[in-house]
Amino acid sequence: MDFNDTAEEAAYRAQVRGWLKANVPPSLGARENGLEDPASMDACKAWQAKKADAGYACITWPKEWGGAGGASWQSVIFGQEEAGFEVPGNPFAIGLGMCVPTVMAVGAEADKLRFVRPAARGDEIWCQLFSEPAGGSDVAAARTRAVKDGDDWVINGQKVWTSGAHYSDFGLLLARTDVDVPKHKGMTMFWIDMHAAGVEVRPIHQMSGASNFNEVYFTDLRIKDSQRVGAVGDGWKTSLVTLMNERLSIGGGGGPSHKLVLKLAQDIAVLAGPAAKDAGLREKIADWFVQAEGLKYTRYRTLTALSRGQTPGPESSIGKVVGANLMQDMANTAMELEDQFGIISDPATAALSGAFQSALMGAPGLRIAGGTDEILRNIIAERVLGLPQDVRLDKNVAFKDVPTGR
Ligand SMILES: Cc1cc2nc3c(=O)[nH]c(=O)nc-3n(C[C@H](O)[C@H](O)[C@H](O)COP(=O)(O)OP(=O)(O)OC[C@H]3O[C@@H](n4cnc5c(N)ncnc54)[C@H](O)[C@@H]3O)c2cc1C
Repeated sequence: MDFNDTAEEAAYRAQVRGWLKANVPPSLGARENGLEDPASMDACKAWQAKKADAGYACITWPKEWGGAGGASWQSVIFGQEEAGFEVPGNPFAIGLGMCVPTVMAVGAEADKLRFVRPAARGDEIWCQLFSEPAGGSDVAAARTRAVKDGDDWVINGQKVWTSGAHYSDFGLLLARTDVDVPKHKGMTMFWIDMHAAGVEVRPIHQMSGASNFNEVYFTDLRIKDSQRVGAVGDGWKTSLVTLMNERLSIGGGGGPSHKLVLKLAQDIAVLAGPAAKDAGLREKIADWFVQAEGLKYTRYRTLTALSRGQTPGPESSIGKVVGANLMQDMANTAMELEDQFGIISDPATAALSGAFQSALMGAPGLRIAGGTDEILRNIIAERVLGLPQDVRLDKNVAFKDVPTGR
């Protein structure tokens, strides 16, 4: 693979950069962190619509569904260039990265026509209703019940950790429709209206002070059979489409880079001069550089698969395990360097606008969301390295007979 831009790629990059320079809106500053703030949410929606109008939203999606009908490399270049600007937040990531691609892959034609375009423009926001109190890593342990009643389904149960449920319009829901078959065979996927009677959203307060995710309760929520996404009993297969997209979109983890730790170390004096001269710290920064390079090339492997029209494999799990741990390690060291000033997290006064304070708070969640470190290591062991499978005692047992500990 050639890592330099071709003439065509360079021309597209220049065009994108010019458009961004002319169109990125003035920053709302710290308010952008709180999507509960209506001005902040309006700014996010306006930015998404502007990108959609210019052909820069959902670049690879077909034009008839609100995308730009472009190539994966264009989408990658736009992402790289956009990352260099301070743009409004992205409350659409779960919808556009996971839920709507699932609807596009297995949903009914009417649903694609109804939902894809408004989501691409940012007019409607989606959340992912998979995790439950007794089923996070093991998504197939879902206990939320959907019971057929004439042409309707009646939903009862609870989801948890649902990011963005409090501002979402629609949700992709995994529910148990048959308890007489093994757990992977008795689930079905649906879309639901988050504003419907029977849906209650309760925010969870995080250590950062924000409330990004929620508990969601369903009490006799009545939905039409036409809200089914995929066949009855195919929920596990359908959820794999969503989860594959999830690990891909979480990818390398983001956050501040090792270059920022280096800058901090150059600015901060310890007894013997700038911290950047400390041999132990230099070794750490060199190690982070090597990890970041490894992540970059692993990501290129995924992009190569995408640009060849192939489905990226389990190697995207590597990016998430390494990226999230890297972020936590760097944030811990940065906090040690900042010493007592590390307690200041207000972006207006904190060192480097509080980049490492927010990375410190976000990294533990990143190591859990979209598959914990242990689960992803199991996937890498089994599906990348070909090691023997984890023990699964409930594989061929009817769901109703799986011991619950009660
Ligand atoms: C920031 C954030 C956002 C999230 N957003 C969403 C969302 O929008 N929608 C949604 O549905 N969910 C969401 N989640 C939930 C997330 O998917 C789950 O938290 C995750 O899958 C882990 O499940 P759990 O919390 O139930 O932990 P558990 O599954 O109970 O795991 C507990 C511990 O046991 C370990 N463990 C479990 N099984 C195994 C095994 N087989 N082998 C080895 N170790 C194991 C785990 O690694 C973990 O350390 C979010 C989570 C976070 C942190």
